[in-house]
Amino acid sequence: MAAGPIKRFLLRLPGFEGACLRLTRDRERVLMYHRFTDDAAAEPDATPADRFARQLDLLQARCQVVGPAALVDQEEGRRPRSRRPLAVVTVDDGYADFERVAFPVLRERGLPAVLFVTTGFVAGRSWMWWDKVHFALARAGTAEAAVTVAGRTVRGPLRTRAERGAFWFRLVPALRFVPDERKEEVIADLAGQLGVTLPAAPPAEFAASTWDGIAAMARAGIVMGAHTRTHPILSRVDGERARQEIEGSRDDLAGQLGEPVRWFAYPQGGPADYDDETVAIVAGAGFDRAWVAYADPALGDHPYRRPRHMVPADLDEFRWSVCGAEHLVLRLKAALGRPTGVSDGYWTGSDLAAALNAEGKEESA
Ligand SMILES: [Zn+2]
Repeated sequence: MAAGPIKRFLLRLPGFEGACLRLTRDRERVLMYHRFTDDAAAEPDATPADRFARQLDLLQARCQVVGPAALVDQEEGRRPRSRRPLAVVTVDDGYADFERVAFPVLRERGLPAVLFVTTGFVAGRSWMWWDKVHFALARAGTAEAAVTVAGRTVRGPLRTRAERGAFWFRLVPALRFVPDERKEEVIADLAGQLGVTLPAAPPAEFAASTWDGIAAMARAGIVMGAHTRTHPILSRVDGERARQEIEGSRDDLAGQLGEPVRWFAYPQGGPADYDDETVAIVAGAGFDRAWVAYADPALGDHPYRRPRHMVPADLDEFRWSVCGAEHLVLRLKAALGRPTGVSDGYWTGSDLAAALNAEGKEESA
């Protein structure tokens, strides 16, 4: 989405960005990327190399780009306070496109970044559940499908690419609010209806990096963090499974790299995607810091609920976020008693959560 006229006007005022940067100097910018692409036209939601390069150059001009250890050292007084805000580039999941498209851009500039690795994905034992939905829909052998999620039927025609896309956008957010086993059942049900066999390992378009690739990038300055083994939504699995996923990914990664893993990011990372029990497991697993996938002043300074900023494709929106104006607006809203949470659509899915509660009542009756 392009920046609105007020944002564009303010960003063009001489001194506006500089003032925002000074006012938010102590606030780190942790940017969150997911997919990268060689073909921006075919994959509009992924970041192409040229845009990533422009964003990094803009970020470097305003902030000091560091790894997470420097962030913690400054926070804990072991490092002199930087004159410019510190910024950390993070990338989630471990898709091969990071290694192919984004890593060379970082290396050219000598910049660090954190890669949060889903270790079962890299090991070839699992692939991402939303990619399975995408894969099944793209190969649909039927004109429509209907699956039940949280007491609701998601039904739709699947004849065109647009119809399949619309179905994906209704089903995938809904699946975040059901127990993990139910999510897998729904995906299997959908694939069955569509006559599609899901391979055990991800096909090329959804492939992960290899362990060799991860090790090579680690040697070249990419900091590796854990991101569970199979990327379940941790608030939708029981405590024991959550512990296995979190500690398992830490151990897999430490075993491959031969060094302790200090950093963690919650899969999906929205407010409903982890809970207090998840945070306690992460804290107990010996990580130094853990990141969520949204920025809200209400998160405070909790070491295991560090904020991150989604990276907007639009360069003005990117400047707005990086200069700190976005954070200042949130602080202003907080001061005025207005909501500052990521309370819209995807992240809280309030309507879907209500549907889930309704289903819970049915089950307990
Ligand atoms: Zn993820």
